[in-house]
Amino acid sequence: MVEIRKPIPVAEAVGLVMEHVKPIGTEIIDLEQSYGRVLAEPIIARHDVPPFDRSPYDGFAIRSLDSKGASGNNRIPFSVIGEIGAGYLGDKPIGEKEAYRIMTGAQIPGNADAVVMLEQSSETEGGFTLRKPFEDGENISYKGEDAKEGELLIEAGSLIHPGTIALLATFGYAQVKVAKRPVAGILSTGTELLEVGDELVPGKIRNSNGPMIKGQLNRMGISYRSYGMAVDDLDACTSIVKQAIAETDFLITTGGVSVGDYDYLPAIYERLGAKVLFNKVAMRPGSVTTVAVLGNKFLFGLSGNPSACFTGFELLVRPAILAIMGGTAPYMPRMRAKLGEDFTKPNPFTRFIRATWTFTESGIQAVPAGFNKSNAVSSIARGNCLIVLPSGTRGYATGDAVDILLLGSEQGVSEWTV
Ligand code: AMP
Ligand code: MG
Repeated sequence: MVEIRKPIPVAEAVGLVMEHVKPIGTEIIDLEQSYGRVLAEPIIARHDVPPFDRSPYDGFAIRSLDSKGASGNNRIPFSVIGEIGAGYLGDKPIGEKEAYRIMTGAQIPGNADAVVMLEQSSETEGGFTLRKPFEDGENISYKGEDAKEGELLIEAGSLIHPGTIALLATFGYAQVKVAKRPVAGILSTGTELLEVGDELVPGKIRNSNGPMIKGQLNRMGISYRSYGMAVDDLDACTSIVKQAIAETDFLITTGGVSVGDYDYLPAIYERLGAKVLFNKVAMRPGSVTTVAVLGNKFLFGLSGNPSACFTGFELLVRPAILAIMGGTAPYMPRMRAKLGEDFTKPNPFTRFIRATWTFTESGIQAVPAGFNKSNAVSSIARGNCLIVLPSGTRGYATGDAVDILLLGSEQGVSEWTV
């Protein structure tokens, strides 16, 4: 008898997965290895930035009071008493109508309070003239104007990107505390599967999900152990799953979660005593996506259908991995777009359509990326987003406003919104 499964809304499935996330702990690594990791400590300014008043331009450091009354008809002459390159200090006080030539980034000398940009001056022998007065503080980049010592700049749980690395370097973090990275296990199930390098033979197809998931993990900087492909055999599959879950932090399987005669994953979860969080999600593709937990480890049972597998990873696996690492913005960013072509099918379940968004004269437009059944592989190779059509909606027409989820975005958002 075919088991009747009760579909749960996508948001509920995501919520259930997130509720079962266990943090993985932290480690200290070299700053230069930190791209893509999740910060495990907040960045608090260790000192003022800039750490001293400095010149934002190449020009002359002056006492503003000496420029008082300068105009086109009353050019005031200054004499230059020395030069301060970036990294050097001026060593003598500036006297009346005296100036230092100063370069961008150099510390403002003691009693100067303004900087004249080169293009605001006219060169003379031994100096320059001014034709406008300068105010106290004009053209000075002040100590602490960017960040004040003690200020909280970036929260723990943020993903480290190149800008974060610049900030950490500014404060002298040669090493940084980050979340450890979980190691994934990957197993593709299906007696019909061939290796990528195999010739096609009747009844068989090449395993595309395994390599795709490796790519999805690589894009997140997550390493994995591959358990290859398993034929649809309950005992053999059970022992591989058992081994994989013992050797890794979570397991992603593809295929075998449906209700066919050779779909053995449900039986394997039962044999292992894993708690199944759900085995049916009101989404298309990927309604058979199943997630179970064994101890503190997830067993992600993705559909074998390539589109469904891809979508299941992006919607459920990716946020879980980020949350395991303490990431506070694990979800794909969302935008509003105009649908670029008619989509006449009704949507009993929330539909995720692989699509390409572009900026057009009438705003952001999203065009479906082609053949989009759950078994599609061609459209997953195209596009840069997923159009979301909520469950219970009828067809959509060109120009209708829809939500899109951005794929491959380094920075996520903290709220699940569809
Ligand atoms: P399943 O989820 O096992 O019922 O498989 C659903 C469909 O996806 C079937 O047509 C399978 O042949 C296909 N499929 C399963 N695994 C893979 C895979 N690793 N790569 C490509 N297609 C697959
Ligand atoms: Mg199968």
